Amino acid sequence: QGYTTQARSLGAQLETSRSVSDIRVETGRIQSVGLEDGTWIDTPTVIIAAGPWSGVVGKFAGIDLPMEAVRRQIMVTRPIEGIGPEFPFVIDFSKSLYFHYESGGILTGMSNPDQPAGFDTSVDAAWRMTHFAHAVDRMPVLEFSEVLTEWAGLYEVTPDAQPILGKLPQVEGLYSCTGFSGHGFMHGPVCGLLLAEEVLDGSAKTVDIDSLRWERFESGLVAGEYNVV
Ligand SMILES: Cc1cc2nc3c(=O)[nH]c(=O)nc-3n(C[C@H](O)[C@H](O)[C@H](O)COP(=O)(O)OP(=O)(O)OC[C@H]3O[C@@H](n4cnc5c(N)ncnc54)[C@H](O)[C@@H]3O)c2cc1C
Repeated sequence: QGYTTQARSLGAQLETSRSVSDIRVETGRIQSVGLEDGTWIDTPTVIIAAGPWSGVVGKFAGIDLPMEAVRRQIMVTRPIEGIGPEFPFVIDFSKSLYFHYESGGILTGMSNPDQPAGFDTSVDAAWRMTHFAHAVDRMPVLEFSEVLTEWAGLYEVTPDAQPILGKLPQVEGLYSCTGFSGHGFMHGPVCGLLLAEEVLDGSAKTVDIDSLRWERFESGLVAGEYNVV
């Protein structure tokens, strides 16, 4: 909300309830964006930042963004005696299992390595049991905890679990800011800055993003990220 408030105060117009259904490209350049209600917005610049749906949006412009939507789920326990805000973020990378403090209890998640790609966001009851068994094994106090809430969402996963940032070489005026592979909440702020630099100054400068550009998939220079949960 802080970002949107500031953006509006600087003159940005945010359309949060209107869906993009097409992108018009002519002579290799972005021309306009089509909305589901039939409106077309003329623009020379489009940034694809549609999270797990970015692959779908890329296709509107004829671009293949190598990424998939993959379900991931978490659960939060009711408050647990002795657990406080000082409880650290704990990750067991060998199992893609993690814990951190949340509302007096513990938030825990674990990635199902066999989860097929897709847009299903229902809670997987079978995976809940697998996850909870591993969670209790690592953190025995959870055995006597109660689940307060649980939900499933979508990761936007690229082949190397790194985002796809910057200009897309196929179409003038088209940019990508997506594919965070489950880390986008942390990476979002700096990536917003980098994309602003890329669009306004011609190239990102705060961080060198060359290894994160779409071209890496063509050149084969893909260094997989190990630290993924
Ligand atoms: C269970 C779970 C736990 C996670 N934990 C963490 C964590 O601890 N730390 C972390 O950094 N990240 C975490 N993530 C990942 C993080 O939530 C994502 O990486 C991040 O939200 C991606 O941000 P985004 O802006 O790219 O996409 P999103 O937040 O998905 O936003 C994309 C937006 O695009 C909109 N959109 C899609 N299609 C269209 C269209 N056609 N027209 C218009 N709008 C469209 C969507 O409605 C949505 O509002 C977690 C994800 C899950 C599922």
